Amino acid sequence: MKDTLTGGCLCGAVRYELRPGFRMRPYACHCTDCQRRTGSAFSLHMGIMAKDLTIDGELNEGKFLQPSGAISTITGCAKCMSRIYAAHDKRPGLASIRVGTLDNSKTMSPAAHFWVSNKQPWITIPEGVPTLETQPQSSEEWLQYVGPK
Ligand SMILES: [Zn+2]
Ligand SMILES: [Zn+2]
Repeated sequence: MKDTLTGGCLCGAVRYELRPGFRMRPYACHCTDCQRRTGSAFSLHMGIMAKDLTIDGELNEGKFLQPSGAISTITGCAKCMSRIYAAHDKRPGLASIRVGTLDNSKTMSPAAHFWVSNKQPWITIPEGVPTLETQPQSSEEWLQYVGPK
């Protein structure tokens, strides 16, 4: 995925461009925090370098203290409250884009599913897609599951 990607919020006030650079593959997270934050069954993330992202429009932020002690900040549109990306203070420079905000999100199927221990029972994960009961425990494991290909 070396092409420039574009995306934006629901109301159109926020638009962004993601330039070519280091990009992980998309993954689904079924943890209960993601369920609460999205009001849905899981969230779709893709790890990127924050420096490759240019955002136009008025933004706001929500903060959450994770059990690990990291402060997770989610940034989105101040008008319609669509969430665009998240970052946390223990991984400076990295961000996690909300895959559903990409214009070409249909081409982005999850390379892995994490926190399937909290998965909603009605969701069936396609055969052959890697799953973890929790999430990768090291950078090596993150790269192994959703690193660039
Ligand atoms: Zn908006
Ligand atoms: Zn999660």
